[in-house]
Amino acid sequence: MRLFDLKGKVAIVTGGNGGIGLGMAKGMAEAGADIVVAGRNTTKNAAAVEALGKLGARAVAIEHDATDEGSCKALVNGTVQMLGRLDILVNNAGINIRKTPDVMTLDEWNQVITTNLTSAFMCSNAAYPEMKRAGGGKIVNIGSMMSIFGAPFVPAYAASKGGIVQFTRSCATAWARDNIQVNAILPGWIDTDLTKRARVEVHGLHDRVLARTPAGRWGTPEDHAGIAVFLASAASDFVTGTAIPVDGGFSVSG
Ligand code: NDP
Repeated sequence: MRLFDLKGKVAIVTGGNGGIGLGMAKGMAEAGADIVVAGRNTTKNAAAVEALGKLGARAVAIEHDATDEGSCKALVNGTVQMLGRLDILVNNAGINIRKTPDVMTLDEWNQVITTNLTSAFMCSNAAYPEMKRAGGGKIVNIGSMMSIFGAPFVPAYAASKGGIVQFTRSCATAWARDNIQVNAILPGWIDTDLTKRARVEVHGLHDRVLARTPAGRWGTPEDHAGIAVFLASAASDFVTGTAIPVDGGFSVSG
């Protein structure tokens, strides 16, 4: 369908070498986009490029550290040099350090905030001139249920994910007249490397998630393919500043 067609579009996905990022990258690749996989781990980067290539996409990897401003600028410049343009930026790279606020160190706080929130600013800031020059663009930021709720062991993570929603709204209003739409996705509990450890560390988490999620299951990276295509395509041209849960109903369940 033309509205969802991404042929000729170029998308960067930070953290696109696994988990939710790769799930979104695959969706956009199947819709016709060229994909830049941005991540630190070169082995994972290469495997993701291969998987995307098998879907028929033109895919390349750029080694990228989301916490470094120079690396964010180089990511955008490298994309334009290699693929000629930049239409879609997915700010997905993220980490968590599970500690209550009384024992978390400032260094740990800064690591989480820089990776999850400041990186979105640095990459969006670098991407804006290219998108403006192209006559428009799409930015998709990844929040969390912790954009809405709090929990004892995620002070920095929740602050970063709450911040990403407000950052999204701010960019959406700043850049709407440039035809750049900026939206956030709020994943529920998704089975990825990030949550594998949590399932071990947080006693009873697995069963609590199942009990609270109306859909009765954990989410998968592939559950994010459709929303990524929607927010990256012309189908969402009048949608901006939103934060859309992809959570099997978790956030509306008591
Ligand atoms: P993964 O651990 O599988 O993915 C995290 C990705 O972030 C990896 O690809 C990793 O790449 C990348 N990354 C981390 N730090 C950096 C950095 N400094 N520079 C560049 N890339 C970096 O977990 P998920 O797929 O679950 O997480 C993806 C996003 O979804 C995160 O923002 C997370 O907070 C969010 N999310 C996840 C939920 C879940 O339940 N899984 C729920 C809600 C939100 P590399 O390995 O190369 O470092």
